[in-house]
Amino acid sequence: MKVLISGASVAGPVLAYWLERYGFEPTVVERTPELRHGLGGHAVDLFSNAVEVAERMGLGDAVREARTRIQQLTLCRDGKRPIDVDLDRLNAGISDRHVEILRGELTRLLYDATRDRVEYLFGDSIATLADDGTGVDVTFEHGKPRRFDLVIGADGMHSTVRRLAFGPEESMQRPLGGYLAVYSMPDELQLGNRMLTHMKIGRLVGLYGVHQTGQARAAFMFHSASELRYDYRDKDQQKQLLADEFREYGWEVPRLLKHLDAAGDFYFDSIAQITLDTWQKGRIGLVGDAGYCPGPAVGGGTSLAVIAAYVLAGELAAARSDLPSGLRNYERMMRQSVDASRALAPKVMKTLIPGGPLAMRAVPLAFAVLPHLPTGLQRLIWAQNGIGKALGSLQLPDYADLVRA
Ligand SMILES: Cc1cc2nc3c(=O)[nH]c(=O)nc-3n(C[C@H](O)[C@H](O)[C@H](O)COP(=O)(O)OP(=O)(O)OC[C@H]3O[C@@H](n4cnc5c(N)ncnc54)[C@H](O)[C@@H]3O)c2cc1C
Repeated sequence: MKVLISGASVAGPVLAYWLERYGFEPTVVERTPELRHGLGGHAVDLFSNAVEVAERMGLGDAVREARTRIQQLTLCRDGKRPIDVDLDRLNAGISDRHVEILRGELTRLLYDATRDRVEYLFGDSIATLADDGTGVDVTFEHGKPRRFDLVIGADGMHSTVRRLAFGPEESMQRPLGGYLAVYSMPDELQLGNRMLTHMKIGRLVGLYGVHQTGQARAAFMFHSASELRYDYRDKDQQKQLLADEFREYGWEVPRLLKHLDAAGDFYFDSIAQITLDTWQKGRIGLVGDAGYCPGPAVGGGTSLAVIAAYVLAGELAAARSDLPSGLRNYERMMRQSVDASRALAPKVMKTLIPGGPLAMRAVPLAFAVLPHLPTGLQRLIWAQNGIGKALGSLQLPDYADLVRA
């Protein structure tokens, strides 16, 4: 069974890993000329079941070793005393299974675990898809046409597979009203393993050290009452937009904006969800952000991508000769977690970007108090309210019997 996977970031390599273990022949096509690995870009979270999937792939120690190691968070507000939060203590309290890791590092580990047994095609993209009920004919922007038994889009928020098989992005994107920007800069404040944040109504700025590079990463989140118009390929235009939004902000922001022009890894996008009703159609399916992005940085998208890719591979292997039914079973199994992440993300966004004076008081108070509560109570609060609830709704299935020698 030949399966084409579009996208080599998180969901794509996890899916390829497990499909190969179950005796499929996966091919991964990635648009970028080489792997999007390395130490630029943002940090992502592996929670509970996603850590368990990494363990089952034999990557538990490697993932933990590559973790970001931010130990202390300092929350600042104008006219108030800064609040220091011990993140090690907070993390240990809410879950014994949480790893924060740079997305590029996670991708590197997943790629290394698959590169010898999976075909990777870099610098190409699917151009057309034709599903005739027994297989999918695929043309590429560069490579020769090929036929596959199944095609899976793991190509992120702006998925090509989704556009080709399910329709234009605009019809299935739900903006949450927030915007997010991230870029690297020199660690002028010698943050090391610390993170500084500053919040105002409708704005959040963060700066944290990246221990592997000795650099720092600046992150900005803001709310906008009206939708901002910009070209998602035009980085200069986006940088200008960010600078205009934060020019009058104060705090350390002038220092951060000084490095904006030079930022090679600048990221800017609206915080939006993908709200498709279904993620499978015949022999074409979607996994991770491509199918159900809950919103970057607010909905546990990375954990969802890892868990869903594991479940998708297992359900395809269980269905074996009836791949469309495997896709349907996967969707059924992941539905509750996806819906819960989607429902949670707007709330997380409103917590991170305080909407009014009440949130400006409540959020720092929660951060100050939570690490000092008994561990059992912290875990209860996390399990009832946090991403833990969204991702914990699924009992991770065991597909060990399906693994081929
Ligand atoms: C700034 C930022 C901060 C974030 N913070 C967090 C966080 O704190 N915690 C968290 O859990 N998550 C966070 N996320 C979300 C997280 O990055 C995603 O949920 C996760 O990476 C989803 O993985 P994925 O494999 O589904 O998609 P992606 O990681 O988006 O990967 C898609 C891949 O497909 C490739 N691709 C795109 N188009 C094509 C094409 N046409 N052909 C072939 N390949 C293609 C891309 O190059 C990429 O390699 C954040 C995201 C951003 C942008």
